[in-house]
Amino acid sequence: MYVLLRHLRRIRRTVAPPAPSRRHSLALRHVDAGSCNACEHELAATAGPHYDLERHGLTVVASPRHADVLLVTGAITVAMAGPLLDAYRAMPEPRRVVALGDCANGACPLADAAQLAGPLERIVAVDMWIPGCPPPPERIAAALLDLLAAPPGGAYSAAMSSATDRRGAGRPDGGDG
Ligand code: SF4
Repeated sequence: MYVLLRHLRRIRRTVAPPAPSRRHSLALRHVDAGSCNACEHELAATAGPHYDLERHGLTVVASPRHADVLLVTGAITVAMAGPLLDAYRAMPEPRRVVALGDCANGACPLADAAQLAGPLERIVAVDMWIPGCPPPPERIAAALLDLLAAPPGGAYSAAMSSATDRRGAGRPDGGDG
């Protein structure tokens, strides 16, 4: 066990994202609004020993009342649009919204459009979109650290410049994801 912990500590020193220069924290409220669960799988990997985003001040909370950021995955089904909006309204200001994965941006490869209320920007204003289907954990980690470093309303390097760009990137015809 001791050898394993020592090995993990050495790996973290060499491959994990560097510690942020500014000391902040963000509480994330995650809402699955109709995902296939692959986005959740990659999101969960950012909490593991490799990225360990909690040491950077990024924590997932159970209540939107304690959250700074609403992190949304999935295609936003009609059934989930109401609960999603309730979660958003329960959050204190300043609140930010992150769309994680192509589905949240209306480029869902799985869903029947008639059952969808999304994309997310149709329901709430989106501050950041993390492209990919699913986005790899290193992209999620980089984007969330970028969000942590930027003030509310600031520019994020992980965000795409327009809805057209966002829908193109991360899709098979956009070259990644
Ligand atoms: S973006 Fe891809 S991986 Fe994420 S929920 Fe949609 S289909 Fe699943």
